Amino acid sequence: MRFIDTHTHPFVEEFDADRSAVIERALAADVRALLLPNIDLSTVEPLLLLCKQYPKHCFPMMGLHPTSVGEDYVAVLDKMVSLLDCSTSYVGIGEIGMDLYWDKQFCKQQADAFEKQLQWSIAYQLPVSIHSRAAVQEIDAVMKRYMDTPIKGVFHCFSGNLEEAALLLKYPNFKLGINGVATFKNAGLAEVLPAIPLEKLVLETDAPYLSPVPFRGKRNESSYLPYILKRIAAIYHKEEEEVASVIWNNTLAVFSLEHLAGSL
Ligand SMILES: [Zn+2]
Repeated sequence: MRFIDTHTHPFVEEFDADRSAVIERALAADVRALLLPNIDLSTVEPLLLLCKQYPKHCFPMMGLHPTSVGEDYVAVLDKMVSLLDCSTSYVGIGEIGMDLYWDKQFCKQQADAFEKQLQWSIAYQLPVSIHSRAAVQEIDAVMKRYMDTPIKGVFHCFSGNLEEAALLLKYPNFKLGINGVATFKNAGLAEVLPAIPLEKLVLETDAPYLSPVPFRGKRNESSYLPYILKRIAAIYHKEEEEVASVIWNNTLAVFSLEHLAGSL
């Protein structure tokens, strides 16, 4: 089996002491590609450095995380656009979106930053990795305006109910990113997922957060992705190999990585 971690942050300081070992463990676990959404300006350098060290396996995204949106977001976005302009190595715009869980102070700015970055997706023809927390209606309100555009991507860290799944899946070019939450008892995903076609799913760890069982509460890493796959296969009552193959193809398609398939 082979896997792609569609959302992981091995460039953050939690991995400073053993970053190479973490990547090597992921490769040994047949996680062939790691897609790396950016967070803010401070993470750009370590992110790009890691992608330079592992050019066949680590692929960068560029974007401003919603919880990093502050007063200066317009200037920050300008700098990020100039980075997008000087490289063709990006595989997506991310992570973008809205997060009103802790703080609604920058709600308007978050919505504006999200919309501007959706427009990058069209301009640069790159898929998006969307973070939505306590903000699904707000995300939907922005995205509705882009319904008739070619924007495609992933709603990362999906852990909602059926109603939320239906709302997100009305965007036909989008997948749901499933992570370690699927392995948590009482998370409710086991009841929701069977109503969602496997063709709509991709896998992610969101490392260093949200470790799957049996590592729950510890630092997460991409080599744990097979634990998530195993759980998904059990929920769908299908063979792991079959699920892995469907999800592999879903991932190549949504991130337009088909040309890399032979070299992963
Ligand atoms: Zn993330």
